[in-house]
Amino acid sequence: MKMHWNDIYVPVRYLLLINHWGFKYHCPICGFHSSDLKECGESSEVITKMHILGAGIRKGMCWLCRSRDRERLIYLYLKDYLNLFQPHNKKKILHMAPEPNLFRIFLKSKNIEYVCGDLFTEGYSYPKEVQNMNLLSLPQSDGTFDLVLCNHVLEHIPDDIKAMSEILRVLKSGGCAILQVPISMELEKTYEDASITSPEEREKAFGQKDHVRIYGRDYSARLASVGFQVQLFHDTEKYRRYGINPEEILFVCTKP
Ligand SMILES: [Zn+2]
Repeated sequence: MKMHWNDIYVPVRYLLLINHWGFKYHCPICGFHSSDLKECGESSEVITKMHILGAGIRKGMCWLCRSRDRERLIYLYLKDYLNLFQPHNKKKILHMAPEPNLFRIFLKSKNIEYVCGDLFTEGYSYPKEVQNMNLLSLPQSDGTFDLVLCNHVLEHIPDDIKAMSEILRVLKSGGCAILQVPISMELEKTYEDASITSPEEREKAFGQKDHVRIYGRDYSARLASVGFQVQLFHDTEKYRRYGINPEEILFVCTKP
């Protein structure tokens, strides 16, 4: 049988992480048990000030597989609530800007017909399975997918309403999308300002140089405005040992 680099890399890395072995956390993706999590994310004044969920510097990364807190929460939701990894559960999925661990899991899952895409940017390389796709004009026909995952993408797109409509369009009736964004529950209304265009100004205003807004408590209404039925999942207390941010809320959007 052909060796994969992971066959050597993962066991060696596991041994090198001996200082982090422990019982406090358990990664549901790779199974690593640890006493702590690795620091990840980027710090920004506005992220701290506005208490933006799903962003900022935090101890949230698995030492072994490098999954982040929010990726693990999505994985757990897909497994426990959508039964997505059951072999009989045939699903067609669109995964935009794929999180690396979910990407590998989906590729291996025989019950999943998997399409993944990203808007290709010069200077970046992409795995061969990833297609160049623009969320404002998806190439698929109406009603193609059972599930769309598109996390931490909408905050980059000036016309996010158009992108939401496209996601709704390519979903089958009864299908759902998980659409996570950086969000501040302290903001009643989403903060955006089209006159803020330079990377420096955007970083100062929105927390990252390529973000165009900070979503607020009206995010659900924004999703509902294109036709989604939005359900908030925040029953995350039971997932604490998986190193999830207990404040994180999943936005599960169903096409009626
Ligand atoms: Zn892990």
